[in-house]
Amino acid sequence: MKTVGIIGGGQLGMMLAEEIHKEGGKAICLDPNPKCPASFVCDDIVVSEYSDLEGLKKLGNMTDILTYEFENVPSEALKYLLDTYNIPQGIQPLFDSQNRIREKTNANNNGLKTPKFKAINSLKDLKNGIKEIGYPCVYKTTTMGYDGHGQVLLKSEDDIVEVLEYLSGEGILEEFIKFDYETSVIMVRSKDQIISFPMGINKHKHGILDLCFVEKQTPMFLKIQEEAKKFMEKCGYLGILCVEIFVKGNDFYFNEMAPRPHNSGHYTIEGCTTNQYRELARFLLGKKLEEPKLISPTVMKNILGFDYENMKKLKEDKDVHIHDYNKADVREKRKMAHVTFTNTTEALYKEKYENLFAREE
Ligand code: AMP
Repeated sequence: MKTVGIIGGGQLGMMLAEEIHKEGGKAICLDPNPKCPASFVCDDIVVSEYSDLEGLKKLGNMTDILTYEFENVPSEALKYLLDTYNIPQGIQPLFDSQNRIREKTNANNNGLKTPKFKAINSLKDLKNGIKEIGYPCVYKTTTMGYDGHGQVLLKSEDDIVEVLEYLSGEGILEEFIKFDYETSVIMVRSKDQIISFPMGINKHKHGILDLCFVEKQTPMFLKIQEEAKKFMEKCGYLGILCVEIFVKGNDFYFNEMAPRPHNSGHYTIEGCTTNQYRELARFLLGKKLEEPKLISPTVMKNILGFDYENMKKLKEDKDVHIHDYNKADVREKRKMAHVTFTNTTEALYKEKYENLFAREE
């Protein structure tokens, strides 16, 4: 029996560990929090900071295969791990995704169009960047940004002041895309197979994913899947990759990527014939991959701290699937759980459930 070491013990690690077990493997996670979500499912846990090489080595020594569900493992630690342990996915996709400038340059170089962007290291760069890109535009820190953290939307000169606090570090200024909708494509690639999951429309609130509506697969989705697969192959990436996309008219733009299971793929657990965690587990354990199919229209609602009490009013049934991550402290914007509604279109979700989660913007 093979043991998979998962760097990170959040909900993604928890759901991955469940599927590793179903595929006949063992799972050990590494996380600073001994009561992290994955700790309730894994066979063991190494309690350590992600940056602590001793902890990472301990995990490597206890396992046959290493993977990551946390993106910000320092690259020096990763290089050491790659030389010493078996990381089937490699570290390149993680390294490429850790810096927004590197990430977007890599996307452009490998066939995916991004919004226009400029590297920003000073107020002068910012002013020149705005001249070139125009308003509205978005400033983001190049590293450690997630769920809208470290981002400023600039609509006019008055907003520049909000960027000043970030200018001591490296940033990126991006063209603001007035997209029609956001979507994401999740792929898993082994040495001889590549699969991709059905796609849907992703809705964000406060920069955090709120809802995914997955129903009909449109020609645009098929086009994005085809281009994204070419991108993954061209980059030589293996394992799982999620690419987040803005769609505007007949064009689509690469926003960012994550070489790990993704929040927008939670719906695959009940909504598809196979799910993102299971296919990653199969990849890690060296098994054949299975092409996923959508079973029914499906909606995924992310449950942040705001929504947690309301979620408890829902009753589980054959079409309402509640995944509680067992997090001890409830914080307003913390991802606490998610609910998947199968046999549910966007229209039906709005009719039956939207009011339950209504809140002030
Ligand atoms: P990110 O952390 O880059 O995924 O950004 C969080 C959210 O902010 C995205 O899902 C979009 O809703 C929005 N956003 C980020 N960058 C842009 C952009 N260049 N144009 C329009 N919206 C954006």
